[in-house]
Amino acid sequence: MKKFVASRINQLLQLFLEFDSPPGNAEQLLHRLRVYGLKGITKLRLTSNRAVMVSFSGAELRVNKGYLEAPEGVLRAIVQFVQGRTRAERREAQRVILTHPVAAAHRAPVRRPGRADPQDSVTLRELAHWHQEYNLRHFGGILSEIPIRLSGRMRSRLGQYTTATPYGERAEITISRTHIRKHGWAEALHTLLHEMVHQWQAETGLPIDHGPTFRAKAQAVGIAAQARRELRAPAPAALVVAQQELGLRAARQS
Ligand SMILES: [Zn+2]
Repeated sequence: MKKFVASRINQLLQLFLEFDSPPGNAEQLLHRLRVYGLKGITKLRLTSNRAVMVSFSGAELRVNKGYLEAPEGVLRAIVQFVQGRTRAERREAQRVILTHPVAAAHRAPVRRPGRADPQDSVTLRELAHWHQEYNLRHFGGILSEIPIRLSGRMRSRLGQYTTATPYGERAEITISRTHIRKHGWAEALHTLLHEMVHQWQAETGLPIDHGPTFRAKAQAVGIAAQARRELRAPAPAALVVAQQELGLRAARQS
């Protein structure tokens, strides 16, 4: 018994010494998360993504670099996010994880849209007009007016909603230029409305996802078919990741 106590004290002391300084790299962070109960993850990758703080698929966990400096409570929340069995557990973990401010240095700069198109200003004016129109028609005018921009760099994504961050970046909606060109204006407006449902989720404190609240609202605003189309996305893996991704954005896949 004495021996057991002694070795236990030794163990704790070792832990204490070890945890005196924050983890310095991916390996050390993974080790620490394991001590906090992380299971089933064999690889941890550090990222510097602007919008995604934590995501995992299969045995790989991706964590924004800024979390190397996170306090124990936040790191434990990452474990809970991965290990959580219920939606409520995950949501609570998300809340804690997002309380940790990730310095701008750890987040890649926002991609600016590619070459400006002379048609852009007209398109953007139209999109802003429809944002106002849909806001009144489907959301009782409660959504805030947010910047809409066009991107020439979106490949499989048709549009994207990015929430405001605790670091002062504003929320925005991005629509793919290629999407407008290839699928036409009516489809682009569907995408706008889809992203507005995410905006509505964010602004009413709901998780940004494609879960039951999304489906119900999408149906109410008349874009249920689009939500179904998204579920049939050619890359089902991307959808799984999206659901396990804790981030500040939601994208509509083609
Ligand atoms: Zn979406």
